[in-house]
Amino acid sequence: MTNPVRRNRPQGLSTRAIHLGYDPASEQGALTPPIYMTSTFAFETAEAGSEMFKGERPGYIYGRTRNPTQTILEERMASLEGGEAGMTTASGMAAMSSVMMSLLSAGDEVVIDHTLYGNTFAYFTQALPRFGIVVRIADFMNPETLTAQLSEKTRAVYFETPANPNLRVIDIAEIVRRAHKVNALVVVDNTFATPALQRPLEYGADVIVHSATKYLGGHGDLLGGILVGPKDIVTKVRQTGLRWITGATLSPFNCFLLLRGLKTLEIRMERHSASAQAMAEFLAKHPKVESISYPGLPDFPQHALAKKQMSGFGGLIGFELEGGVARSMALMNELKLITRAVSLGDAETLIQHPASMTHAIYGAEERAKHGIGDGLLRLSIGLENTDDILYDMEQALNAV
Ligand SMILES: *Cc1c(COP(=O)(O)O)cnc(C)c1O
Repeated sequence: MTNPVRRNRPQGLSTRAIHLGYDPASEQGALTPPIYMTSTFAFETAEAGSEMFKGERPGYIYGRTRNPTQTILEERMASLEGGEAGMTTASGMAAMSSVMMSLLSAGDEVVIDHTLYGNTFAYFTQALPRFGIVVRIADFMNPETLTAQLSEKTRAVYFETPANPNLRVIDIAEIVRRAHKVNALVVVDNTFATPALQRPLEYGADVIVHSATKYLGGHGDLLGGILVGPKDIVTKVRQTGLRWITGATLSPFNCFLLLRGLKTLEIRMERHSASAQAMAEFLAKHPKVESISYPGLPDFPQHALAKKQMSGFGGLIGFELEGGVARSMALMNELKLITRAVSLGDAETLIQHPASMTHAIYGAEERAKHGIGDGLLRLSIGLENTDDILYDMEQALNAV
């Protein structure tokens, strides 16, 4: 009965998200991996402990750097992103800062794209320069501006695609081609797309970081972060960044919640994407809507690139109303089902105003320069029935 084609086929994303790296037989048949709530691990003998510290014997030592519940999640995420190794952290900011603080030294240079999550932008422009790291800004949608900022000293380039909050889509392979000419590491924040829709390592990126708080968890009940990359880099981030720079370890309980969330990641992303497409098409036709950013719309400027690079367009939409900030705020207040909250990727549809909320840290001048309009609203389409989300938006638009 064996089918050779089927036997040799790699397992699909959902199958790996549900099964990879865990055998119930190793845990008395428990279908779900146990949560190892322990801070430390007993050594069988004094010698065994010493050997583990020297890296000569495998095993767990202390919970800041590794825990068995984390290991399952890390192996699963590495597989989903197509990387060698993964590492969990206490938040998305911890994933990003653990990578940077482990790999950069004073005098190094980094080039970032100009549209980033607000606190990531603050980290690069306000925190890193205090430690002698030179941070240059470019517009990665126009890759020549990146090349103009690269030098022998460039250690890393950093960007998001689609970018928070205006959904700009960046050509990963093109950025990689330019950055690798000076041997700079390409670090991509894959929070918006998730590996269900986009795998930047397949385009040559070196390291992926995630706010697992968002789609990977998917239920708005945890903070977490994950990074995936080559074994040597992840080991360095674990042994320095996690162990003695940031110490930003993820709780085993949050690993359990993330393992649960991952099981439905692919089907959730399909539903988020389908409902967001319907909402984007509705908004695009509405007379009170001045502009809309959604990679799935045919007249979105990087639609063709998004179609090539992603297998779905995701659940986030940016849009502006005629009438600017005042009308945007009024619309938010008229919504009854769609919830006013930052964060994204949850079952609940959420709306926020980047200029006064997630991207307030940019300052008005920087926002204007970086294409984050003062009236821009960011919608994170949830998993409610599509018609109910559309109906709520329609009644709120009628009211303003
Ligand atoms: C939320 C977010 C972060 C920060 O993650 P936390 O888990 O909140 O620390 C980083 N990047 C993007 C794109 C985000 O949306």
